[in-house]
Amino acid sequence: MSKTAILPMIFALTPSTNARPEAEREEILADPGFGKHFTDHMVTIDWSIEAGWHDARVTPYGPLLLDPASSVLHYGQEIFEGLKAYRHADNSIWTFRPEKNAERLQRSAQRLALPELSTPDFIESVRQMIAIDGDWVPSAPETSLYLRPFMIANESFLGVRAAHKVSFYVIASPAGAYFADGVAPVKIWLSTEYSRAGRGGTGAAKCGGNYAASLLPQMEAYENGCAQVLFLDGETGTNVDELGGMNVFFVHGTDTIVTPRLTGSILEGVTRDSIMQLARDRGMTVEERAVTLAEWRDGVASGAITEVFACGTAAVVTPIGQLKAKDFTIGEADAPAGEVTLSLRQELTDIQYGRVPDRHGWLTRLD
Ligand SMILES: *Cc1c(COP(=O)(O)O)cnc(C)c1O
Repeated sequence: MSKTAILPMIFALTPSTNARPEAEREEILADPGFGKHFTDHMVTIDWSIEAGWHDARVTPYGPLLLDPASSVLHYGQEIFEGLKAYRHADNSIWTFRPEKNAERLQRSAQRLALPELSTPDFIESVRQMIAIDGDWVPSAPETSLYLRPFMIANESFLGVRAAHKVSFYVIASPAGAYFADGVAPVKIWLSTEYSRAGRGGTGAAKCGGNYAASLLPQMEAYENGCAQVLFLDGETGTNVDELGGMNVFFVHGTDTIVTPRLTGSILEGVTRDSIMQLARDRGMTVEERAVTLAEWRDGVASGAITEVFACGTAAVVTPIGQLKAKDFTIGEADAPAGEVTLSLRQELTDIQYGRVPDRHGWLTRLD
């Protein structure tokens, strides 16, 4: 490693001159919704093929000035992350397994031919956001400040190749409780016509392009009264992959959880990994293997599958009541949330909010 690589990145700070007054901020934090409001500042770090990562800075939140030829606008060379800052009862601010997000951003960068940002620099960028905008971390139960790091190709060049100029940003958005009225099962729409990822594609990378591919089937889901869309594997159309932005688990009896194994078309969720660890800690059997749609249908019919849930950072753990497809349904729409689902959700959020000991060292203090 070169000497410069171990120097911590220094962030230049330009504070906002029109940060929202406390009263306005508190009004937003009282009912933040999701992804609607943004804090007063943002992080930017630039990269070029000649200079590497440089010019790290914290500036007022505001629009980007992009050349119309900027490569991200034409070829979609973009990746992102999502993690949360949680306020604990003693007012301290923490985040959950940020090194996992940093490593995943590095893997996504490799796949999308973007430069890798080191784990310490990634975590420092998040710290910088909290240092300046920590007051934006809400304190009501189940609320958080959602952090959205992202990286774009930012070279004015229409030739098709990996960009020689790139920018990394972090923005932050206060998030309300996902289930304000209690954790309720959702209906999921099965996409039979569309895939989100194919063999050798970008399914395992957290990139905007995967989401672009999921929006049309997502519209189909809404039209059919469903909250989310489930994708099967692109190759055979028989195995369960995941939802548009969440991984899927099946509970068998009370002591086994099963989740589709990582095939390259499934995104490796931090929540997925954490749920598997918590289940193992309880002495449950955890299986990562192919799950066919037929197993889901037969398992629910026979009672072998007792609960189904989805998981991801934004909604944590969401019970799935029913899977709806064009010509069949699995499960009952009004089925109550399952016990295993609810207790895993409770344990995970208890760790994130500092209500139980952090026995795996998953939390990083940010303030
Ligand atoms: C982000 C994401 C997930 C969930 O990952 P977490 O790290 O648990 O938030 C699952 N599937 C897809 C497609 C995603 O983009």
